Amino acid sequence: MKRILFSMMFTVLFLAVPVAFGKTGSQIRVVATTRVLSSLISDIAGDLIDIYTIAPPKRDVHFVQPTPKDVLMTKKADVFIMTGGELEIWAGPLLDAAGNLALKENKKRVFDVSRGIEFLEIPTVLTRAEGDIHAFGNPHYWTDPRNVRIMIDNMAEQFGELYPEHAQMFRQNAGKLKTRLDEKMKLWEKRLMPWRGAGIVTYHKSWSYFAEWFGFNVIAEIEPKPGIPPGSKYLGELMKQIKENNVRVIIREPFQDRSAPSRIAQETGGEVLTLGQFPGAVSEAADYIGMMDHNVEMLAKAFETLGQQNNKRMK
Ligand SMILES: [Zn+2]
Repeated sequence: MKRILFSMMFTVLFLAVPVAFGKTGSQIRVVATTRVLSSLISDIAGDLIDIYTIAPPKRDVHFVQPTPKDVLMTKKADVFIMTGGELEIWAGPLLDAAGNLALKENKKRVFDVSRGIEFLEIPTVLTRAEGDIHAFGNPHYWTDPRNVRIMIDNMAEQFGELYPEHAQMFRQNAGKLKTRLDEKMKLWEKRLMPWRGAGIVTYHKSWSYFAEWFGFNVIAEIEPKPGIPPGSKYLGELMKQIKENNVRVIIREPFQDRSAPSRIAQETGGEVLTLGQFPGAVSEAADYIGMMDHNVEMLAKAFETLGQQNNKRMK
């Protein structure tokens, strides 16, 4: 009965949501898998595009279940943008379900923005054994703003090829966005400089690129493997490691379990920070730059309060 009720509610909600793209018919209809991509492409293409994003910002992007609306919007899309690196394992089935001929006929219209990105943590053996969801390397590369510069260039170039009449405008807007980002990067680096080398613990292996850029040491993750929740034995060992290394800052994302990080923080005198990987994940993060502003400020304040000691990198 509950299931029928839920399905009825879903149908009503679904019907209540307008499914048509477009304020005007002339806009390029873009479907982006995540809000990072929609944030960047909106800055590059402005009003020329009408954007629809699939992954809700407060949900785990690995495990998105596309809705009927997502399928409809993908069916109508002129361009479909994705992060790649197997982050969106659901994108293939979604594209199949949508059966969009325009996307099938021109491969450039299904756009993986990861071209030229150096992936970290590429395993020597490609396997999803034991549930590891980073089987092709770590796909969370946009947490390093240097990679975002590459994404911006890729977007301006590919959209320029698809819509050459607007190529110059895309290039100009991409240039302005990179200038803004460069200025911010200097400020972020300055703000976090005093804690370069500090140890942190993260829930999921999703901050490796961020840590690489700022020079933080991710001592360990709360998940024993990406996508696998911790057991009590693992947590016990982790707690010991955290105490030995005097790590105080524990990073989680809004959709991740709060209880294990809180328990660890209580026992080790640390603090749990809820940071975002997507605009909209936390209310302060309206776009990519706003999201990074928030993350940097939260970290800086936590380090100031906790008096974090620098840690040596653990190998
Ligand atoms: Zn991941």
